[in-house]
Amino acid sequence: MTAATYDKPLPPPNEESRPFWEAMKEHRLVLQKCGACGKVRHYPRPVCDACFSMDTEWMEASGKGQVHSWTISHHAFHPGFKGDLPLVLVIVDLDEGVRMCAQARDLDPEGLRIGLPVRVDFEDATDDLTLPVIRPA
Ligand SMILES: [Zn+2]
Repeated sequence: MTAATYDKPLPPPNEESRPFWEAMKEHRLVLQKCGACGKVRHYPRPVCDACFSMDTEWMEASGKGQVHSWTISHHAFHPGFKGDLPLVLVIVDLDEGVRMCAQARDLDPEGLRIGLPVRVDFEDATDDLTLPVIRPA
């Protein structure tokens, strides 16, 4: 896959998620952390769901985690994903205590199990956008 042939829908960064995507471009994983109570949250959003504070900080994340769940899709819901089938989507419990969903890379679907150690890696989709992917730890 090269940036020139990338034909999938792209997530549009917004005011809340821009720091996440900017870090992704640098192949760094960052997570939002509440500036009032310290609770980590993901996906990026303006309000802490624990204390309702809008005081937001960003923290570097390890990228380490374990498989929480997964699904294997044999149907492309967008033409751009036809070449990726079967598409393995993994939900990961990150060590920081939040969950993240991304496509698997180099993970044998037959070997997937809950608790499998994995890590977040980075895949440059376009010149302006890097997407997280999940690889074996
Ligand atoms: Zn909070």
